[in-house]
Amino acid sequence: MAKILCVLYPDPVTGYPPVYARDSIPSITGYPGGQTVPDPDALGFTPGQLLGCVSGELGLREYLEAAGHELVVTSDKDGPDSEFEKHLPDAEVVISQPFWPAYLSAERIAKAPELKLALTAGIGSDHVDLDAAIKAGITVAEVTYSNSISVAEHAVMQILALVRNYLPSHQWVVDGGWNIADCVERAYDLEGFDVGIIAAGRIGQAVLRRLAPFDVNLHYFDTRRLPEEVEKELNLTYHPDVQSLVSSVDVVDIHAPLHPQTYHLFDANLINSMRRGSYIVNTARAEITVRDDIVDALRTGQLAGYAGDVWFPQPPAPDHPWRTMPHEAMTPHVSGSTLSAQARYAAGTREILEDYFASQPIRDEYLIVAGGALAGTGAASYTADGKASPGAE
Ligand code: NDP
Repeated sequence: MAKILCVLYPDPVTGYPPVYARDSIPSITGYPGGQTVPDPDALGFTPGQLLGCVSGELGLREYLEAAGHELVVTSDKDGPDSEFEKHLPDAEVVISQPFWPAYLSAERIAKAPELKLALTAGIGSDHVDLDAAIKAGITVAEVTYSNSISVAEHAVMQILALVRNYLPSHQWVVDGGWNIADCVERAYDLEGFDVGIIAAGRIGQAVLRRLAPFDVNLHYFDTRRLPEEVEKELNLTYHPDVQSLVSSVDVVDIHAPLHPQTYHLFDANLINSMRRGSYIVNTARAEITVRDDIVDALRTGQLAGYAGDVWFPQPPAPDHPWRTMPHEAMTPHVSGSTLSAQARYAAGTREILEDYFASQPIRDEYLIVAGGALAGTGAASYTADGKASPGAE
């Protein structure tokens, strides 16, 4: 019998379950590139349900308890007196989500001698100290591709929201106004803009494909160049480094993983090398930017807008300056947790647990760390050099 410690975001303040806006969600069977969606033996939920919060339990309780395991679900994740730290010493499996991350630092891993599997219900395991996990022989897995398209759609939405000045215009309506000049004094068409994507992986490529019909000039930088036919098809301009890209575009959209090469990449120096009035959308990780340099650039007008859904830490303090900085269109970390995405990452979490408890191999594409080394997707996306996951601290 194993103890599974699952950290999920709190229930809606209006109560659980919610009144659902729709009765079903579309059935998606595969991802671009051919990977199939999660395929567990059974589902303990109806797709479209709210699963990522405490009462949603990722639909796992019945399955785990029927197999004799103990499931503890909590949102109380920070500090030495948290429920998370209370249950950590005898937990064999920890499940967490990037939206409400239970930071598995080296110190916490040292307090978890029974821990064998750290599972991310979603994508992005930088809240786990991967070097410490490697040393402790812990397997780290995530549900690769489960919410990549969800994030891509959110990024496109936030680019449009900034460039067209959507949220301030909406606010005039809510406030009873009809202030057209106030709305449009910062509104532009996206058409004709130079838009640059940093990292053309699963999410970045999905954004490129979604933006191509807007008749923008698409640019990208990635450590690995895309095949020539893709560059031609989408009419992409490749840049050999970040500096070249950011000085050539009006909008920068970030989709790189957080690792030592991207940590605090967007500092005052880089931002000041951008065109005046550029926009940044960042749904990758907040720590890719320097928090206060973003605020300063918005105040001076060097940046015309900043949006994204990733913060550090999460949740951010009530006085986090990104809540009140000018020309922002931030959301909480929600892009990858739509009801559509939840159905996929909850099913993927169950698939990984089924394989783990049956001592079957976990799909290679879900693995980040296994057998004391980076593995699968982790071997491609992370580096083990003592600073594999700066966000974990
Ligand atoms: P992928 O692994 O598919 O793509 C990442 C790409 O980044 C790869 O092509 C990789 O190239 C490239 N890359 C790595 N290092 C750099 C660098 N220094 N500069 C430029 N490019 C680089 O990841 P996804 O597209 O699935 O996700 C990207 C990130 O988005 C995740 O790491 C995660 O942090 C974030 N994310 C956010 C979510 C949210 O809810 N907001 C949800 C899901 C993910 P190579 O293959 O050569 O290493």
